[in-house]
Amino acid sequence: MAAFGTVFMPEMSIAEYQDGQWHSPQISTANSLSLHPGAHALHYASTCFEGLKAFKHADGSVHIFRLDQNIKRMRQSSKLLALPEIDTTLLEHMIVDIVKHFKNEVPNPPGSMYIRPTHIGTEPAIGKAASPATQSLLYVLLSPVGDYFAGGTRPLKLLIETDGMRCAPHMGMIKSGGNYASALNPIMQARAQYDADQVLFCPNGDVQETGAANFLLIDGDEIITKDLDSSFLHGITRDSILTLAKDMGMKVSERALSVDELLDRAQKPATEAALSGTAAVLTPVGSLIHNEQTITIGSGEEGPKTQLLRRALNEIQWGERADSFGWLTAV
Ligand code: PMP
Repeated sequence: MAAFGTVFMPEMSIAEYQDGQWHSPQISTANSLSLHPGAHALHYASTCFEGLKAFKHADGSVHIFRLDQNIKRMRQSSKLLALPEIDTTLLEHMIVDIVKHFKNEVPNPPGSMYIRPTHIGTEPAIGKAASPATQSLLYVLLSPVGDYFAGGTRPLKLLIETDGMRCAPHMGMIKSGGNYASALNPIMQARAQYDADQVLFCPNGDVQETGAANFLLIDGDEIITKDLDSSFLHGITRDSILTLAKDMGMKVSERALSVDELLDRAQKPATEAALSGTAAVLTPVGSLIHNEQTITIGSGEEGPKTQLLRRALNEIQWGERADSFGWLTAV
């Protein structure tokens, strides 16, 4: 199976912002973009994106998961990057239209159609290092994806990084291209030196998130995860899992979690940890590397709570459980 995000639908929905307004979106070929080499995004990283999924149900209907929340986050990212403001209904129509266009191509569960809205500053203005682009492009790409878990996922090994940061602290809640670039070197180093799967960024000993997912510690009936602030991405899967956990009677503690407390709790036999994200869904974490030592979390295997929560989330997405929280948008 092709790597996640390398296969694209041949067309996308695209809209241009110019002369102070959004122009009508078009459906156009998705294999190229005409861009001036001096485009603002290419020099000053005025670019943000989203990642969400559409799922096919047994009756053939197609549903987008938490469309409103992803649009909200995209609007916020654009705003915080001083890109032109995105109109909620415009983006909603673009996403729904393109998913509808390729409705027949949405894979059956456990696969899905990954949706990638992208917003880039296109104004050819290299003098604008300290001022925003006044022209931009908004487009929505689609990529059919398989199930991350189909191959039998083994629990991940994370390197605890207390010195470096994933990105500048005030940028963390923005889903911006630059944040991902700034996290690459530490991730590459962790892979080369420790054979780690991911880096768990813990600036000043405060457990934050990994390069592309949020971190959840599950200790018995309690889930502990960092409370929302501007330093990390407010994952929509995180929110969904916490909502499901509360609904199942679990205790949800959104608060600061120190590396010391994490390592302490990790040694208990029933402790579990997982990464949450649109692509990761809920991936078990089996061990942590800290100060050259490997610490196993609980049994080191995927725990029952992680499995239970992931199943509950998947069942809603796949139409096998009532959508009690109104998370699905039918296309
Ligand atoms: N943190 C980062 C840095 C991410 O890239 C992602 C993936 N979008 C997440 C957290 C999880 O966010 P979500 O659950 O909305 O996909």
